[in-house]
Amino acid sequence: MGGRVEAAMIQEHVLPTYGRAPITVARGEGSYLFDTEGRRYVDFCAGIATCSLGHCHPAVVKALCEQAGKLMHCSNLYNIPQQEELAKLIVEKMIGIPGRIFFCNSGAEGNDGIIKVARRFGHRRPAADGSPRYEVITFNKSFHGRTLGSMAATGQAKIQVEFDPLLIGFKYVDFNDLDGLKAAIGKETCGIMFEAIQGEGGVNPATAEFMRGAAALCKEHDLLLMFDEVQCGFGRCGAPMGWQAVCPDVQPDLVSCAKGIGGGFPMGCFWVSNRAMDEQGTELSSIMGPGSHGSTFGGTPIACATSLAVVTEIVNQNLAERARTLGEQIKATVEGWGLPCVETVRGYGLLRGVGLKKGSFTVPEGNTPAGYVNSLCLKAGLLACPAGPDTLRLIPALNVPESVLAEGLIILKSVLEGLS
Ligand SMILES: *Cc1c(COP(=O)(O)O)cnc(C)c1O
Repeated sequence: MGGRVEAAMIQEHVLPTYGRAPITVARGEGSYLFDTEGRRYVDFCAGIATCSLGHCHPAVVKALCEQAGKLMHCSNLYNIPQQEELAKLIVEKMIGIPGRIFFCNSGAEGNDGIIKVARRFGHRRPAADGSPRYEVITFNKSFHGRTLGSMAATGQAKIQVEFDPLLIGFKYVDFNDLDGLKAAIGKETCGIMFEAIQGEGGVNPATAEFMRGAAALCKEHDLLLMFDEVQCGFGRCGAPMGWQAVCPDVQPDLVSCAKGIGGGFPMGCFWVSNRAMDEQGTELSSIMGPGSHGSTFGGTPIACATSLAVVTEIVNQNLAERARTLGEQIKATVEGWGLPCVETVRGYGLLRGVGLKKGSFTVPEGNTPAGYVNSLCLKAGLLACPAGPDTLRLIPALNVPESVLAEGLIILKSVLEGLS
């Protein structure tokens, strides 16, 4: 059966919420994908920054298959030692600050989780008049997910069209605007939430100054500093976590993770700091006790065993540092072409955005510049990903071989040179 036939079938019984490219991927091998017609693609999309070790990494396949043969699912009513082992590794080697982890299955769930923690914190640490605090300040062009909570947190109107009324308790400010942030803090505010490097919104990094300022405002107003590390975490940005690449001296209170943590297996989590939240020294993480949150599929043995193999590989092979070096190579190479259609190359590590210059080439009706260039790349054998209307995102696997990286960049160069 050809790729096009299958794609047509998918329209029939699956909700058309995605505008899908007309290919069907049959299998993957490292940083290559192969479609049902036998075409090979260089994969700079990696499942949208999810397949952090590429496709079919032997250590990940082995861990998954072995666990499948022992115990796939186990209710959270019982001990799941794989959770403790993975949580210890994440806390010690990735987050690097004492805290505790809740396992879920996706980024949106992770964000809903930290929003719930922030609201509970707002009850335990109410406003001066005793009323609970519940508001979380987020930022324009952010992306936090599609659930009712994470969608309301997302500072992009297009995500929210006709889903109103939205969950209350969010206020959006321009990213990197410290004065705007300061002005937005009110009596109800209990947290400030952002991506250290906005992914979907166009690969827009926070400035170190903004991150320090936000952290200082949290201290001053007794707010929680909440990082959405779903896309920029787990080595992606050239440090264990994204915020550490931008400004390692700030310390978050809450962190959400997903995407790259599972290497392609559905996995997410959120981390809550053990820091004292009052004069009695109550640990922040202690406010989420039995009954406060749950997930049937959160932290199953198979998800944890698979993720453990992924994170172990990221740590042992020092893939964050590798991402840092390769990311700088991408930036230098693309900027070195000196092409008129390239305005900037933004981002950290292997979360890179090629900013396309407005008006430098003709875009067919109904396309965005990034969507158009992305479709040309696909035709030429390179899978990338748009981020906002004007940015082409390059997010290869952290272990992409240098030869495959070079191959992908040659394709990108020919596509960009062909724009008129
Ligand atoms: C993808 C993404 C999400 C949503 O993750 P899902 O697993 O799709 O729910 C949330 N935040 C950021 C920063 C993301 O990139």
